[in-house]
Amino acid sequence: NNVRLQAIKDVEAYVPPAASFALHETPGDIFGENVFSTSVMQRRLPKSVFKSVIATIERSEPLDPLVADAVASAMKDWAMEKGATHYAHVFYPLTGMTAEKHDSFLEPAGDGSALAEFSGKTLIQGEPDASSFPNGGLRNTFEARGYTGWDVMSPAYVLENPNGNTLCIPTVFVSMTGEALDHKTPLLRSEQAMSTQAERILTLFGHTPDRVVAYCGPEQEYFLVDRHFFLARPDLLNAGRTLLGHKPPKGQEFDDHYFGAIPERVLGFMMDTERELFKLGIPAKTRHNEVAPGQFEVAPMFERANVASDHQQLLMTIFKSVAQKHGMECLFHEKPFDGVNGSGKHVNFSFGNSAQGNLLLPGDTPHDNAQFLVFCAAVIRAVHLHGGLLRSSVASASNDHRLGANEAPPAIISIFLGDQLADVFDQIAKGGATRSKEKGTLLVGVDTLPPLGQDPGDRNRTSPFAFTGNRFEFRAPGSMQTVAAPMVVINTIMAEAMDFIATELEAKVAAGTEFNEAVQDVLADIVSNHGAVIFNGNGYSDEWQIEAEQRGLKNLRTTVDALPELITDEAIELFSTYKVFSKAEMHSRYEIGLEQYVNSVGVEARSTLELGTTVILPAAVRYQTEVATNLAALKAVGVEPDLEPLETVSAPLAELRAGLAVLAGALTAETPHDPLAEATYTRDVLLPAMAAVRGAADTLESVVADDLWPLPTYQEMLYIL
Ligand code: ADP
Ligand code: MG
Repeated sequence: NNVRLQAIKDVEAYVPPAASFALHETPGDIFGENVFSTSVMQRRLPKSVFKSVIATIERSEPLDPLVADAVASAMKDWAMEKGATHYAHVFYPLTGMTAEKHDSFLEPAGDGSALAEFSGKTLIQGEPDASSFPNGGLRNTFEARGYTGWDVMSPAYVLENPNGNTLCIPTVFVSMTGEALDHKTPLLRSEQAMSTQAERILTLFGHTPDRVVAYCGPEQEYFLVDRHFFLARPDLLNAGRTLLGHKPPKGQEFDDHYFGAIPERVLGFMMDTERELFKLGIPAKTRHNEVAPGQFEVAPMFERANVASDHQQLLMTIFKSVAQKHGMECLFHEKPFDGVNGSGKHVNFSFGNSAQGNLLLPGDTPHDNAQFLVFCAAVIRAVHLHGGLLRSSVASASNDHRLGANEAPPAIISIFLGDQLADVFDQIAKGGATRSKEKGTLLVGVDTLPPLGQDPGDRNRTSPFAFTGNRFEFRAPGSMQTVAAPMVVINTIMAEAMDFIATELEAKVAAGTEFNEAVQDVLADIVSNHGAVIFNGNGYSDEWQIEAEQRGLKNLRTTVDALPELITDEAIELFSTYKVFSKAEMHSRYEIGLEQYVNSVGVEARSTLELGTTVILPAAVRYQTEVATNLAALKAVGVEPDLEPLETVSAPLAELRAGLAVLAGALTAETPHDPLAEATYTRDVLLPAMAAVRGAADTLESVVADDLWPLPTYQEMLYIL
């Protein structure tokens, strides 16, 4: 009755289902079939109503409440044709999860029968009880009431479930007094702020102002583990990561998994996820193996940040459920396996509009693309001034295992520009840019190959914030996190930087400076004041830690170091100036961040204690008894036994007992009441106590007889799929 050995047998016997793409079905046939898209609206709505909705979606004009009834009725008919019986306002509370409250379309007609109804009022606004969602002190001002409000810009969709389909309506979630209790509200506010300032710059360059949109393309990394193993690991169940576990003899040192052939079973899972994503209009594009065994990546095409963020949440939900259908568990934790590559969610971002296209496109000769250089300089200023805020936007107990370890970007936020741009900005600092390093052609030495273009700059994998040709890539976000939080910070700090630049340019031009000269002046100022954030070297090196400190860049190693960035005077001033967060909202986010840190490490600590006490300790004791019995038997036949085998198990066993006692003590001790002090205690007392237990348990794993070891091992979980 060894759970682990039984799990291995069950995995072997398991026959995964085939992918469900019907023969001859192409992605094009199903793409967006469950989305109440603009084309569906065009077909189903009266012309004037359609126009009014489009004005809101495309030009952010306020929604005309009069059209809501017409939209709601068309939406309901469409959804019911797709088998929906219920509708749900979907929102994104500060747990980082997705929340939904389902209501039936049915309304009693008064004569004992019922009618399917869906009014404009119920489409626009919902009122879920907010008391069970984190609010970080906003609670006393709003009591239990919370409101959801329809986000017209993110399309409604029908979510299929074998047990009943639901019409889902993406919404914001706010308190009774309008304070944001979610991730979408500030995202929408920050997009607005960023657009306003970007339009000022475009106006200075002679363009007709037109709303600028923030784009986001998230790359999602994840692990897949067979569910038999998952269910046999209480730590994975409780904490989403292994709290114990010995590194596998074969790790990722052979570089044989990255971009390797995708295992058949995983491909079936990927095909199924893509099918579901396509139906929901989520443009999944890239899929491949990642660095670690059992690790994979999906990257949808970039979309408007607000939509990309909703889609990203939906993607995680779908991946979880499709994985279960295929007998696997999808792990989004940033570090499910200690000593094995962790998972991130790179946030690629750019901004632009239909008239100007992507505003981060340098062209072949960036040195004479003044407009691009201005936007790029805005990024440099923004990241230099507010690196701490960027770090805090991705701060969590689980992401702490990644940031700062030698595989993910360091906790120091710097910018990688690449050779070509770094050179252009160097020239600007010296008085003016006159040339750009050229794009080359690769000489491969094979005549039959077509000429391969060579980019002017290499990629850099160690930078947390890298220019990648037509966008910046923020690599610090964790695989489990919402992309909304970092996008809110990016939009807001970009708004500040563009505001600064526009104001400078306007003043200089008003004072009689020629426009191009004014641009050169402002760019040169930015390079000299903020160039310290540009770093093209190896971010993993120890020298960088020292150099970054000399440059005055922050190195916020843990969540406890990073979160206070949210409540500095400058941060509060910044976010209130651009009307993204009020002071109360900033404080609430800070407190929720600390609370979540304490809670998630608390769960881990209690799981470690339980696992150590009820699973590892008994296994080790059984083995110790076996060894002792053997010694006694040897002695009985007159052989003087070597005591070392007994010592090998007894020593780590004693360590385990001691470690568990310390951990139990730490968990029952009176902890400080102040949230920051409690989080600090969690980091400085609980985490080390857990590490000590783990150390002993992992030693035991390499000592105790294999047939007695109760937990699926790293090699089993990572290599058997
Ligand atoms: P890599 O692994 O090379 O970083 P991937 O192909 O895995 O790149 O993912 C790149 C991501 O960047 C995709 O989500 C893609 O849609 C997104 N992306 C591409 N161009 C832009 C852009 N202009 N703005 C925002 N995101 C972009
Ligand atoms: Mg990638």
